[in-house]
Amino acid sequence: MISLKRNSKGELVEATGYRSRNIYDPMQTGKFRLSRSKFSDFLQCRRCFYLDRVCGLTSPGLPSWSLNQATDDLLKREFDQNRMTKTPHRMFEKFGLTNVIPYQHQDMDKWRDATHHGLEFDYPGSNLTLTGGIDDLWFDQNTEEVIVVDYKSQANNIPVQAEAYLETWHHQGYKTQLDFYAYLLHNMGYQVAPYGYFYVCNADKSATGFHGKLLFEEVLVPYKWNIDWISSHIDLLLDVLKADVLPESNPSCENCAYAYQRNRLEIK
Ligand code: SF4
Repeated sequence: MISLKRNSKGELVEATGYRSRNIYDPMQTGKFRLSRSKFSDFLQCRRCFYLDRVCGLTSPGLPSWSLNQATDDLLKREFDQNRMTKTPHRMFEKFGLTNVIPYQHQDMDKWRDATHHGLEFDYPGSNLTLTGGIDDLWFDQNTEEVIVVDYKSQANNIPVQAEAYLETWHHQGYKTQLDFYAYLLHNMGYQVAPYGYFYVCNADKSATGFHGKLLFEEVLVPYKWNIDWISSHIDLLLDVLKADVLPESNPSCENCAYAYQRNRLEIK
């Protein structure tokens, strides 16, 4: 994909490939914020993570997924109405969630702001602050546990089946996402319900035409999160941040293969 750099006015500007902020310095004493998405980057390729967080390289920008963002925003608005009235959402009864309501907390808006805040946990023995911007939290009034929730939008001809949904390879990262949020909440001192949920909105592509609207099938997919593996990976991540050598790249990465082949052709 061709990605051209523009300033806030939409004018083309020189792409340097570098940025100056959020770069890890092994000597720094202040906090270094590390988001859930950067943790996921680390899991996929330590080399790219290092080039980004330590060397300050900027990866090409991605287009924003505005339709997905629209479903997220509308769901948020809908859940906030139930949050205000302390009432269950229309989907809860259908999926057997009794005595559950959207969670009320003064920091909800901060926790949902992935860019500036999110959930925050200072990782012990380090200057790392782990962060994660959640979509939503619900509250089980019976157990007094907080339920981790992530909204997902897609357009798939196959109806969403709760069991099969998380088995596909491209949804493996979703599990990491919920694990990480549960990890942050747990370490922030909250009682977290053992099952989180993906609120999946699947656009119906079998309709006779567009007619100015998309219809969605809505399914709650439960997921039993697991946080046991995360601390050991944060320790590995810290080792990588502090290292002075480039880690190995991921041999399955098409971007690196492209860059390698392009360099080869340009050097000829
Ligand atoms: S393999 Fe190369 S391009 Fe791909 S993620 Fe790693 S460093 Fe980045």
